Amino acid sequence: MPENIIAQWLKLPNVEISEVVTRNGYTEIYLDRDESLGYICSNCGQRSFWSWDTRLVRIRDLSVFAYKAYLNIYKYRTNCPECGVKIEKLDFVDSYSRCTTRFEALVARLCRITSLKQVAELLELDWKTVKDIDKKYLKKQFAIPDYDNLRLLAVDEIAAHKGHKYFTVVMDLERTRVIWVGKDRTQKTLNKFFKELGRKRTKKIEAIGCDMWDPYIASIEENAPGAKIVFDKFHVIKNYSKVIDKVRNIEFKKATEENKEAIKGTKYLLLKNRNKLKRNQKERLQSLLELNENINIAYILKDALKRLWNYKSVGCANRCLDSWISTALASEIRPVINFVQTLNRHRYGLINHCHYPINSGKLEGMNNKIKVIKRIAYGFHDDEYFILKIKQGCSPP
Ligand SMILES: [Zn+2]
Repeated sequence: MPENIIAQWLKLPNVEISEVVTRNGYTEIYLDRDESLGYICSNCGQRSFWSWDTRLVRIRDLSVFAYKAYLNIYKYRTNCPECGVKIEKLDFVDSYSRCTTRFEALVARLCRITSLKQVAELLELDWKTVKDIDKKYLKKQFAIPDYDNLRLLAVDEIAAHKGHKYFTVVMDLERTRVIWVGKDRTQKTLNKFFKELGRKRTKKIEAIGCDMWDPYIASIEENAPGAKIVFDKFHVIKNYSKVIDKVRNIEFKKATEENKEAIKGTKYLLLKNRNKLKRNQKERLQSLLELNENINIAYILKDALKRLWNYKSVGCANRCLDSWISTALASEIRPVINFVQTLNRHRYGLINHCHYPINSGKLEGMNNKIKVIKRIAYGFHDDEYFILKIKQGCSPP
């Protein structure tokens, strides 16, 4: 009997195989059920022995060898004494789903390691079905947020849709995970996080790393006055990189035709860490720096600024910052001077780093992960799903 091996491995409760039909590419398994057990109401979970009507349903299950498998079973509407006529709940499939729970678990597992489109292709499913299953699992997984024992946080923003739309991300730096994501990047956005967290838990937060972005600063000062604000290396250098790019643009406009060629296409070289460049890129960068003094100064100042986060003593950090500021002012480069004003206004948070050395590498790592998730998941135009994918991608396995 060809059914024997399938019957042996089917492992579903209260059903028996009545027939197995193999058609090209897939296997249809017809199931008989033990009707003496009655029907479970999908609304209240109560068992009843009264059925209303029935129909044959086809449910996708795990494959049989290389063949896609479908279970065919009569599903009833039960006449529940509590709820009236309701669809019954089968043990191995969620209400309204056309896949078994174990098949859905496989889909969700695959979605964790590869893109939704690839999962859809691999399992020959519609991408919407894959997304719905993955989303259902993620919603279950992140239904109850874990806000206990938060001490060191970081707040970051992500631009979606080429900067027309933003999300605010809150990270727990001690456990390296994203704990909250909200739409937009206003003071109100971050206020929502603190409201959700509650006063008691907020009081325990010692420090929060963030960008020199006034709405976030205002929200932290209002909601978590006891927490120290730390402007971390990752965010400050990211901001300073924009300054270098401004200088590059100004110099490009002023340059002769010949020098324009040397400046063209160098944005990446200037922003990337020098030791991550290839040999020919290093050479190109070097000749650009030799050619243009202002770009060179702005570039040297970037490396000098990075040193600020090496200091653990407040006195040394202040001296380092003062010396950087006086060199920067002496450069007389407009965008650099504007940046000095920003740094001066935010000095307290730069120096706070001495007390709370926020791990900038962790922050950058999570930021990079989110960028990858954005490329893969944002195209589905489902903010809720995107947020869940961020939480999944940025949480310990
Ligand atoms: Zn019921």
